[in-house]
Amino acid sequence: MIFIYKVPQVKGFVHKDQFPRPNLNDSLEGEIQAFLTDEDQLHTYDDLTKVNPVTPTTVLKCLQARYNARVFYTHAGCTLVALNPFQPIPDLYSVDVMKEYHCAPQPQELKPHIFIVAEEAYRNVQGQLEPVNQSLVVSGESGAGKTWTSRCLMKYYATVAASSSVVKSQDIVGRIERRVLDSNPIMEAFGNACTLRNNNSSRFGKYIQLQLDRSQLLVGASVQTYLLEKTRVACQPANERNFHIYYQMIKGATDEQRKDWKMPCGQHFVWLPNAEKTVEEDCFHETVEAMVHLGINAERQREIFRILAGILQLGNVNFSPSTDESQPCNLEEQAAELFSIPTEELQLALRVRTLKAGKQSVLKPCSQTECSMRRDCLAKVIYAQLFEWLVAFINNSICADKSMWCNFIGILDVYGFECFQLNNLEQLCINYANEKLQQHFVAHYLRAQQEEYVSEGLQWSFVKYQDNQSCLDLIEGSTVSVFSLLNEESRLNRASDCKMFRVRLEKELCDNVNISWDKFSKVPHFTVAHYAGKVNYQIQGMVEKNKDPVPPELNSLLQKSDNSLLHQIFTDKETDNMTSKGLSKVTVVSKFKNSLESLMKILHTTTPHYTRCIKPNHDCKPLTFKKEEVIMQLEACGIVETIHISAAGFPIRIPFTSFLQRYGLIAKYSNFQSESDCASKYTLSLYLSHCLDSDKHNSWVHCGRTKVFLTQSMVNLLEDQRNKI
Ligand code: ATP
Ligand code: MG
Repeated sequence: MIFIYKVPQVKGFVHKDQFPRPNLNDSLEGEIQAFLTDEDQLHTYDDLTKVNPVTPTTVLKCLQARYNARVFYTHAGCTLVALNPFQPIPDLYSVDVMKEYHCAPQPQELKPHIFIVAEEAYRNVQGQLEPVNQSLVVSGESGAGKTWTSRCLMKYYATVAASSSVVKSQDIVGRIERRVLDSNPIMEAFGNACTLRNNNSSRFGKYIQLQLDRSQLLVGASVQTYLLEKTRVACQPANERNFHIYYQMIKGATDEQRKDWKMPCGQHFVWLPNAEKTVEEDCFHETVEAMVHLGINAERQREIFRILAGILQLGNVNFSPSTDESQPCNLEEQAAELFSIPTEELQLALRVRTLKAGKQSVLKPCSQTECSMRRDCLAKVIYAQLFEWLVAFINNSICADKSMWCNFIGILDVYGFECFQLNNLEQLCINYANEKLQQHFVAHYLRAQQEEYVSEGLQWSFVKYQDNQSCLDLIEGSTVSVFSLLNEESRLNRASDCKMFRVRLEKELCDNVNISWDKFSKVPHFTVAHYAGKVNYQIQGMVEKNKDPVPPELNSLLQKSDNSLLHQIFTDKETDNMTSKGLSKVTVVSKFKNSLESLMKILHTTTPHYTRCIKPNHDCKPLTFKKEEVIMQLEACGIVETIHISAAGFPIRIPFTSFLQRYGLIAKYSNFQSESDCASKYTLSLYLSHCLDSDKHNSWVHCGRTKVFLTQSMVNLLEDQRNKI
C-alpha cells in the first residue's frame, strides 16, 4: 500500500483504461484553452509538467513539436524523456558538452540532456548530510535507446570522474575507466543480436555499479546481468540473427583462425541465419581489442572461440527418425574436437539417456526429437555458462577493492515491457520485472510530488491507494500465484504438467481480477492485466522452460573436457543446485525472482533517476515521429501513468496573478493592481471563498505559496462561470 492525496472524484487506483485515449487527429481545441500552452510554443517547453493542462494529447503534441525542432530530451517532472533520433547528432555528446554540464553551477538550467541526469546523480552522491548511492534507471521498448543511453552515461562518468587523469601513467590499457568502457563491446558481442526491432538488441538485462572513491573519482565497477535469452543460440526467430559474436568471427577472423576453428569460408551454418546482413556491430577487431584490455589472454581467447565454433558445428548435426540408423557424422567429430571431448562420448550423450533404477543404470535410446532437444540443450547450456564466465571475468577485471571505493552510481538497462501475440515464460519474467520497477517508480514519483506540495505549503489528507501490488501478488505471491503454481508443477515433474498447470491456474486463481482465460481459444493461455496493458501467455511449454533441465550426461561429459575453460565452467557449475535426476532445484522463475529482489533491495537504498527512452517509429527511421506508436510507449513505460497520478492531484497550477486576471471578474473582484497585491495566500483565499460553494468545491482547489492548485473539474467550473458573465 502507498498513499495518494485525497481527491474526491478519484477513488483508489485509476487504471489507464478508464482514461479516454486522446484523439490523435484533434488539434488542441476542445481542451481547456484558459491556461493552455500556446500550440506554437509547445516545442519550447522543456518540462512536460509545465504544459497546461497535462493530458496525453498535450504531452504527445509537445514531444512531437520538440522532435520536429530536433530537441530530443524533455523533462517530465522527476523523469527525463529521451526520444531516439535514429541518427548521429553531431556535438550533442562531445567531451566539451560533458564539461559544460559538469561545470555548470546549475546544470538544471541548461537545456534538458541526459548529462543533467548524470550530473545530478553525481552531485547527489555527496548528499546533504551523508553520501547517498544513486541509480539511473533507463527504460523503454526494444530499440528505444536504453543501451545507447547507458553507454553515454558511462562515458560521461569515465570522462568527468576519470581517476587516471591524476595518475601519470598514460598506459591506456591500464586505465580503469578504459576497462570499464571496454566491458560494453564484449557484453554486447555475446549478449546482443540483430532482431526485427533493433539491429543491436540486448538479449539480457544489466545493472552496472560505477564505484567512486572519497574524491568522487571512478575507481572501478561491477556488473550484474539478468536472464540471457540463451534459446537464441540454437533457435533464431524468423528474419533475426544469432548473437553478434558469431558474425564477428565469420567476418573478422584470419584464415589461420578459421582453420583452427574448423570454419572454412563458405561453409553454411544452420544456426547463423542472415549472415549476409551487415550491421555496425559486426566488429570482431573491437571485441578482441576489448578482451585484451580486460586481460583475456590469447590462449583464453582461443579456448573461447573454439567453444563457440563447436556450438556452430553442433547446429549442423541432424538425427534420423530411428536412432539405430543415426550414423554419427563427422560434424560431431569436429564439434567434439573443438570442445576437446571424446567423440564417441558426445555421440552417446546426444543419443542415449541413462535411467537410474536404484543402483542399476539402464540405457534408453532417444527419439529423433529428443536427440535434437539434447543437442540444443547442450548448445544453450554451454553458451549460457560461457556468458556467465565472461561476466565474472569482467567483474574481476574492473571491480575495485572494497577499501578503495565508498559510493556507487548504478545504471540499470533492462528489457522493456513486451507484448507479442503469444508470449512465453521469458516475457512473463520481463513483464514481472517491469511491474516491479513501475511500483518503485510510482512510490518514488509520489514522494517527489509530495515534496512539491510541501514546499508550496499545501494541506492535504491521504487516502489509501492501491498500486500494482495486486498484479505483483498474482505473479509472485508466496501463497498461490502464477510462479508458485509453476514451481510446484516443475517440482512434481509429472508427465501432464502443462495440463495440470492450466487446471490449477483456473481453479486456484479464479477469483483474482488480474488474470483471465479465453476458454474457447485453440492455444491454451492465460491473460494478465499488467499496468501497461493485457498480455496473453501461452501455457504450452511453460513448465518445461521453468525446469530448464540439463541431462546429467551432458554435464559430466563437459567436465571431462581438455579445453581448460570448458572444464572449469562446468566443474564450477557442479552439482550443488542439481538433483540426481539432473533437474535444477532452482527453477528459472525462482532464480529470476531472487536476483530481481536483490536488485530492488539495492534500488531502494539509492536515490533513483528515471530516464524513459522512446522509439519515435518502429522502422528505426531518422527523425520520423509516429504519434500512435509514441502514445503506446508513453503508456507502457509509465509516463501517461505518471500523468494520471498527477491528474489525481492538482494538475493545473496557476500563479496568483494569472489566476486573478482570468477569474477575477467572476467575483467582481478586480482590485488587484500589482503582483505584490495578489501574491498573498490570504487575499486569494478570500476570493476563492467568495466564489466557491465551499462545501462542495473546496477540495478541488488549494492555495499554495505562489500558485493556485486546481483539479480539471475546478477549471471547468470556473470557465463555465466566466462564460456566463
Ligand atoms: P533493446 O531493448 O533491443 O536492447 P535498446 O533500448 O537498448 O533496445 P539501443 O540499442 O540503445 O536500444 O538503440 C537502438 C539504436 O538507436 C542504436 O543502435 C542507435 O543507432 C540509435 N540510438 C539510440 N539512441 C540514440 C541517440 N541518442 N543518438 C543517436 N542514435 C541513437
Ligand atoms: Mg539494449
